[in-house]
Amino acid sequence: MTTDFSEKKAVELDRQDPLSKYKSEFYINEDTIYMNGNSLGLLSKRAEQALYTSLEDWKNQGIDGWMNGEEPWFYFSEKLGRKTAPLIGAKPEEVIVTGSITVNIHQLVSTFYKPTNKKTKILADAITFPSDIYALKSQLKRNGFEPAEHLIQVESEDGQTLNEDSIIEAMTDDVALILLPSVLYRSGQVLDMKRLTEEARKRGIIIGFDLAHSIGALPHDLHAWGVDFAMWCNYKYMNNGPGGVGGLYVHERHFGTEPGLAGWFGSDKDKQFDMAHTFTPAPDAGAYQIGTPHVLSTAPLLGSLEMFLEVGIDLVREKSLSLTDYFITLADQKLEGLGFTLENPREPHRRGGHICLRHEEAASICKALKAKGIVPDFRSPDAIRLAPVAFYTSYHDVWQTVETLASIIKNKDHKTYSNKRNVIA
Ligand SMILES: *Cc1c(COP(=O)(O)O)cnc(C)c1O
Repeated sequence: MTTDFSEKKAVELDRQDPLSKYKSEFYINEDTIYMNGNSLGLLSKRAEQALYTSLEDWKNQGIDGWMNGEEPWFYFSEKLGRKTAPLIGAKPEEVIVTGSITVNIHQLVSTFYKPTNKKTKILADAITFPSDIYALKSQLKRNGFEPAEHLIQVESEDGQTLNEDSIIEAMTDDVALILLPSVLYRSGQVLDMKRLTEEARKRGIIIGFDLAHSIGALPHDLHAWGVDFAMWCNYKYMNNGPGGVGGLYVHERHFGTEPGLAGWFGSDKDKQFDMAHTFTPAPDAGAYQIGTPHVLSTAPLLGSLEMFLEVGIDLVREKSLSLTDYFITLADQKLEGLGFTLENPREPHRRGGHICLRHEEAASICKALKAKGIVPDFRSPDAIRLAPVAFYTSYHDVWQTVETLASIIKNKDHKTYSNKRNVIA
């Protein structure tokens, strides 16, 4: 990208950045560089305002907020689903804002895992986020299958990335369902979702993706690729707040498939209050909701989505790639010989939204970074994840982060901290 490693260059890049104006829309402590948006995105003023709107509706209208509020809660999850659709290349009715990743995995696997005599296995990978695997194992057990035998976890050759060829090789005749991450939570590798979906569909295998680390960071084309289902959280790149409600996608060819976990909020809206004991599911992705939506943990998303729709996910991706590119260029130059290795892929199309640096003393380096006002993310045992977020990270922030990493090692600042993780890391 650049061969100019100066601070002046960073300032110039910020001046040319069409998204730089969005930084002032976020609450960022002065003297803090926030590089943890891939774990918990920051609060924007628009998200805050959207939350206030729902609080006002509650304050002023009580129960009537469901239908008559400024943002009627009864239709809120559907409305937010439609607004999310362009971020993932889905049709508006294929998306609903509901649940959390783990709950949505349970819902979608309950719905789409239909073992037969021949096909009983679930295919996943060996380096994904633990909760996804816990959910898959419990789903297998509930169907009477021993996970040790029926869960296939494709290994990583280098411990960091997955090889699509190996995943495709593992798509054997006995596989009923596949669940994979879109972007790996540690290395940030982007999997080739299009190719994997094509191969799964050729073999009659249902395939779903966990979009935790890709939604809000890069574009998707789920409908056109033919992906069967997907789920995500909204508290990472989507900036919907701690515990913010997530979302799910179901391809329209599956509309009408009975939800594995039925509940009254999955009802056809016009029938829900008939209070019948026969469930009439919504005709679209709304059917896979379960209970009453968590309105106050959903509302901020409206404000946040406005920003994504205003800018468009392609421009978000463009800046994100440019930031990580700049980070890598600076790191190659300034962190050389200081014990760091870059874990994420270098090729842009295989690189998600975050940088992953490994270092033997990663835990203590993260503590030193934090003491200097830079908020990183540590993943045991030796990974430092740093996410320059398109909406609120500047090129100067990236420059400052790399400078600080170098100075910590050179001055041995991290040696004053223990190289152990904190409870939350
Ligand atoms: C963040 C994350 C989760 C967390 O799941 P929740 O149910 O939202 O707590 C699960 N899987 C992946 C891949 C994640 O990155």
